[in-house]
Amino acid sequence: MGSVLNVVLAVVAAYLIFKVGFAVLGSFARPAPEPPPPGEMRRVSLTYRCPLCGMELRVRSAMSEDPVAPRHCMDEMELVVPAE
Ligand SMILES: [Zn+2]
Repeated sequence: MGSVLNVVLAVVAAYLIFKVGFAVLGSFARPAPEPPPPGEMRRVSLTYRCPLCGMELRVRSAMSEDPVAPRHCMDEMELVVPAE
């Protein structure tokens, strides 16, 4: 008798794990927000450098003239002040 109950419990547990797993996958698969229309983007010319690996990145278009710095090597990149 006890073994039948164990099987039922195992099936219920497997079903719950299956359901939770798909719920987690579904939250990851949520579509990214739509980018704004190109007319709302600011034309900028900002250069960022990664302080850890030295990679430089040119930002040509952003939502504002002072956008949030991109991240690289798990750290925020430094804004390179243009020599003018
Ligand atoms: Zn880096």
